[in-house]
Amino acid sequence: MKHSSDFLIIGGGVLGLTLALELKRRYRDCSINLIEKENAVGCHASGRNSGVLHAGIYYPKDSLKSRFTREGNIELHQFCADHNIPIRRCGKLIVTKNEAELSTLDLLHARAKANDVPVESLNEDEVKKLEPMAQTHERALFSPTTSSANPKDVMAALAKLAQAAEITLHTNTAFRKFDGQNVITTQGEFQSGYVINAAGLYADTIAKSFGFAQTSKILPFKGLYLYAKQPMIQTHIYPVPDLNYPFLGVHFTVNAQGDTKIGPTAIPALWREQYQGFDNFKFGEALDIGFRSASLFISSNFDFKRLAMTELRKYSKKHLVKQAQALVPTCKFQDFAQWGPAGIRAQLVASDSGKLQMDFLFEGDERSFHILNAVSPGWTCALPFSRFLCDEIDKKIV
Ligand SMILES: Cc1cc2nc3c(=O)[nH]c(=O)nc-3n(C[C@H](O)[C@H](O)[C@H](O)COP(=O)(O)OP(=O)(O)OC[C@H]3O[C@@H](n4cnc5c(N)ncnc54)[C@H](O)[C@@H]3O)c2cc1C
Repeated sequence: MKHSSDFLIIGGGVLGLTLALELKRRYRDCSINLIEKENAVGCHASGRNSGVLHAGIYYPKDSLKSRFTREGNIELHQFCADHNIPIRRCGKLIVTKNEAELSTLDLLHARAKANDVPVESLNEDEVKKLEPMAQTHERALFSPTTSSANPKDVMAALAKLAQAAEITLHTNTAFRKFDGQNVITTQGEFQSGYVINAAGLYADTIAKSFGFAQTSKILPFKGLYLYAKQPMIQTHIYPVPDLNYPFLGVHFTVNAQGDTKIGPTAIPALWREQYQGFDNFKFGEALDIGFRSASLFISSNFDFKRLAMTELRKYSKKHLVKQAQALVPTCKFQDFAQWGPAGIRAQLVASDSGKLQMDFLFEGDERSFHILNAVSPGWTCALPFSRFLCDEIDKKIV
């Protein structure tokens, strides 16, 4: 069967859906097919993330992340309010473990100011008053605009809007290849005026079949969450991160229902959708990722070895809780019950330098457009980021 439309979007995550809705808003009469390989939207990162509406503290001023997080935070709060999605306005503390971390805390404060994001500097007593469980060394930062919502609720609301906007959603339809004219899928051919690739963990391989993403490849990092038996804290508690990596370190989050969890980890995965056991195992993929991980491990230009060794230890619940005790000293191993559903980061790595890409990236031409490295805080940024991406697409197709 052959389908045809003005736009074809590959991937039913938050970016695929928000892009489709934005295109419909701009070009009311356009036809859009969206293909998704799973039987529903939001089965990967967009439905498996921490659900934190980030404020925009961490990112350097000239980055796409800084440009869209503050705005995305405001717009996602409004979206949730408009669609009756519960929000927990819990705020977030960034605490320090020692003297050495204070300078990074100050840098984060400066970045927040530059990004026009409200933060307050708190002393130890003020931290205790705000969150008696948290511990800091001398000072901490508090972000009042960081919140939580259930990512699945957001995806369900977006899917409803897509249906109402007559965007045709083809689930159980996987991209196979681009033959130079049409996109070939497991459910037949799709002909379209313009193709947009928002395929998350597979965005790089799909981009390659259009001649893009020649200098980078996704390396998957697994985010595990350990749930507390009962609510422990009122506000998110994060450590000062190592700014050389795009990950934020072991932290406590309060989800929309008020549950407490620690994580997510950033454990190197052996294949792209390695959620549990041998789920979604692909031999060729495991071989390629195993080989690339081994060469990163040996090479000295990027400290993958240290990251991998630190993260792999977090498969142990005991070790993870021990790490978390640096933020909440009174938490105990017995307070935590079980692992929750994992999420996997579609982290892009530059092939030449082996460096982890820190910002969102995109490539495209007059026929196709590819969103790469849509890592955290991509969920928070999705609404304004998709508008920006549509501006970029507009420039390519005129
Ligand atoms: C552990 C974790 C925690 C995170 N926490 C946060 C957070 O708290 N706040 C925040 O703002 N961001 C967070 N993020 C980041 C956020 O989840 C992502 O930036 C965002 O979901 C990316 O959306 P996406 O649409 O690009 O990708 P995805 O949601 O992965 O969507 C891609 C879709 O493409 C489909 N697809 C792939 N291959 C094919 C194919 N061949 N054919 C058809 N379809 C295909 C997939 O099935 C998938 O549905 C987190 C991410 C992870 C992994």
